[in-house]
Amino acid sequence: MRVLVVEDESGMAAVLRRGLTEEGFAVDVAGTAQDGAWLAVENDYDGIVLDVMLPDMDGFAVVSRLRAARCWAPVLLLTARDSVDDRVRGLDAGADDYLTKPFAFAELVARLRALIRRGAVERPTVLTVGDITLDPARRMVWRGADEVVLTAKEYAVLECFMRRPGRVLSRTDLIEHVWDVTFDADSNLVEVYVGQLRKKVGRHALETVRGMGYRLRETRLREMYGDDGAD
Ligand code: CA
Repeated sequence: MRVLVVEDESGMAAVLRRGLTEEGFAVDVAGTAQDGAWLAVENDYDGIVLDVMLPDMDGFAVVSRLRAARCWAPVLLLTARDSVDDRVRGLDAGADDYLTKPFAFAELVARLRALIRRGAVERPTVLTVGDITLDPARRMVWRGADEVVLTAKEYAVLECFMRRPGRVLSRTDLIEHVWDVTFDADSNLVEVYVGQLRKKVGRHALETVRGMGYRLRETRLREMYGDDGAD
């Protein structure tokens, strides 16, 4: 397993390099955010240990940059302050886990191994299907450059589709993911919400698959005004 350590403090970097090497990892060390981001994108690391406090750019910006560059290596953030804000910011930026300094080295290794087991699966922080963009951290949606204002339930239904692009979701799938157990399965609420979403994100975006459910299609704004077939 090859890991990247991004840490500017030479003492801490040396401890991490030595300790992780003893644990059997191949370890590369970067002392700046710029070098770290470059190495991470150029190489296929199994995991990245990233300090938040770096001289040129903070660790949050590094994670955002990596994810934007479609680098999905698992990232363990090292935060100096035990601040909830920092941890939330880091996880929202696309980090997978965090550890607050000072930490026990055994815990760092255990967390790193747990992250590596999950692998570098694609997990964008912002979901995009066609020209619809959804940011779960900010709970905001855009169609092209225009913000789309949704109610909480409309948002939940759309997020359900955005996480499964191209897949047909039945009424039952939607009910299971969006509503709680008290939902009256006989009601027509699912149809109502799908109808409302179509008005807001484009009527061609949510396709009815007869007898099965609905599917989110990749659409572009121009199709809203085209006559490329009705639902
Ligand atoms: Ca540092």
